[in-house]
Amino acid sequence: MLFDRLFKQRCLLCAANDGGRLGLCDACYKDLPWHNAPQCPQCGLSSNGLVCGSCLNSPPDFDATHSLLTYDFPLDAMMQRYKYGSMLNLGHIFGEMLSNKINPSSVDLVIAMPMHPTRLKERGFNQALEIAKIITKNKPEKLDYLSVQRLKLTPPQASLPLKERVRNIKGAFTVSNHLNGKRIAIVDDVMTTGASLNELAKTLKQAGAAHVECWVVARTLPK
Ligand SMILES: [Zn+2]
Ligand SMILES: [Zn+2]
Repeated sequence: MLFDRLFKQRCLLCAANDGGRLGLCDACYKDLPWHNAPQCPQCGLSSNGLVCGSCLNSPPDFDATHSLLTYDFPLDAMMQRYKYGSMLNLGHIFGEMLSNKINPSSVDLVIAMPMHPTRLKERGFNQALEIAKIITKNKPEKLDYLSVQRLKLTPPQASLPLKERVRNIKGAFTVSNHLNGKRIAIVDDVMTTGASLNELAKTLKQAGAAHVECWVVARTLPK
């Protein structure tokens, strides 16, 4: 009893209750901004559950999107803390939560959004790769961190409007393996405009991938 009280982890968000298996208490877990509304299966934006007008008019290079949460409070704050290094264990939590939604057996390869070596050096870890490692922990052979590299050091996408995001990311990736006929999932932390995911999907398809889907922790929804 005393041991439990001393060592039980408090909930990461409210600190009032004990954190459960994922470090969040039941109430805080339930209150996360779950992305459960009917959505476009291709881009993950809200729709009547069918492919949205924007995807019909100009189809993205990825075929499907699975997103767990919307990029709203408190997830936005949690994500910032995760990415800037003060709460690294959140990567484990995000990976476990995303694992409830997707199935690594449905694809041949899982690729984390690659980071430019200079950014990796600055940050010390690739936030998407840490999540992808948890997702594939029972199928480590699916995790591919060798086929794709990021060539271009770009300003952070968040600082740019959509048109510039697309221009900024163009030609950013290179694939060093043949991916003929492969079904691939790209793991990323947050999908905003989808410009980076789209450029990577395009590059993977040019290398022969047959199907590319996005597995993201959070989707930014237009307000
Ligand atoms: Zn709580
Ligand atoms: Zn769509």
